[in-house]
Amino acid sequence: MDNSKIWLSSPHMGGNEQRYVQEAFDTNWVAPLGPNVSGFESDLEKYLDNDSQVAALSSGTAALHLALVLLGVKKDDEVICQSMTFSASANPIVYVGATPVFVDSEPETWNMCPNALEHAIIDRIAKGKKPKAIIVVHLYGMPAKFDDIQSIASKYEIPIVEDSAEALGSSYKGRRCGTLGDLAILSFNGNKIITTSGGGALVCKTKEQKDKVVFLSTQARDHAPHYQHSEIGYNYRMSNICAGIGRGQMEVLDNHIAKRRAMNKFYQELFDEYEQIHLLKEPNDNFFSNHWLTAIYIESKNNDSEKLRLHLEKANIESRPLWKPMHLQPVFSHSPYYGGSVSEKLFNSGLCLPSGSNLNEEEKQRIKEQVTRF
Ligand SMILES: *Cc1c(COP(=O)(O)O)cnc(C)c1O
Repeated sequence: MDNSKIWLSSPHMGGNEQRYVQEAFDTNWVAPLGPNVSGFESDLEKYLDNDSQVAALSSGTAALHLALVLLGVKKDDEVICQSMTFSASANPIVYVGATPVFVDSEPETWNMCPNALEHAIIDRIAKGKKPKAIIVVHLYGMPAKFDDIQSIASKYEIPIVEDSAEALGSSYKGRRCGTLGDLAILSFNGNKIITTSGGGALVCKTKEQKDKVVFLSTQARDHAPHYQHSEIGYNYRMSNICAGIGRGQMEVLDNHIAKRRAMNKFYQELFDEYEQIHLLKEPNDNFFSNHWLTAIYIESKNNDSEKLRLHLEKANIESRPLWKPMHLQPVFSHSPYYGGSVSEKLFNSGLCLPSGSNLNEEEKQRIKEQVTRF
């Protein structure tokens, strides 16, 4: 029997990616601009909604960095960030010299807890600084409780940056993730729902914002025949080659989402009979997840999630612990934190399972057999 590695989430090409890349070579648009870049941006704008203004960049992390620059976040400012996330959600706060303030999750979506958020805002204001922005994440594709978060953000007039790196194709109350916040970022890293081999985007609300992002991401060059600069720039634009891959991937995005959701259904059925295993699932019809990764939480005192991970590893099947909350990371140990132990408990007993849109029946059977055996 074939025992090749089953990955958590691996790149899955649709077929037309090479055609767009070939076109770039044929026309010599091998540069950080060109028809694929604008084509990919307009594909994304159409997909999200027609009012979105998308700037394609070199990574999701770069997009988040520029989002903070665009919002005017500066040295010694504070920015609120969901604690349970990938470090790339928080690192750009430090790039601009600001301090991250971490907030716990709630148990339904595993995303930012609205109560802890309000508590954090009130306390930071009392301590003398109103946070400059709130970074909300849609973990594993599951939309956060956005209305509750939005109404708190509006009450205190703090802009929201949506970290939608894992949630392209997810929606909340019929609105796409990536269009909910004041700004939003997407990622096209190799393991995401679609990939450009490496890339990201900043989703803006106005053309002026997008133009500013493109300006900043291409070294902030003033209008002059020589190189003149009045602002600090960045080299963050997406290349025309990567964007070609992205255009091909957009053609298969909805198909990939259907397959990821089918993987999630496969796990729902597989775990149905085990009372102590809980899947991260949509709380109600307001939430539509792309189910980028299927994640489970195992109620046990015996470290069963780690035992299951090691068991699967022996069978050459990759699984991974949940994101370790940022307030528990050595690098952020001095940052303020608000909330309880929801994210910590999830981290201690959770696991992400192979969820790729390219897993076949045979691979599903291998996963099923190993899980059942365990
Ligand atoms: C992947 C990811 C990012 C960063 O995106 P890159 O394109 O890898 O820089 C940011 N936030 C979250 C939640 C992610 O999963």
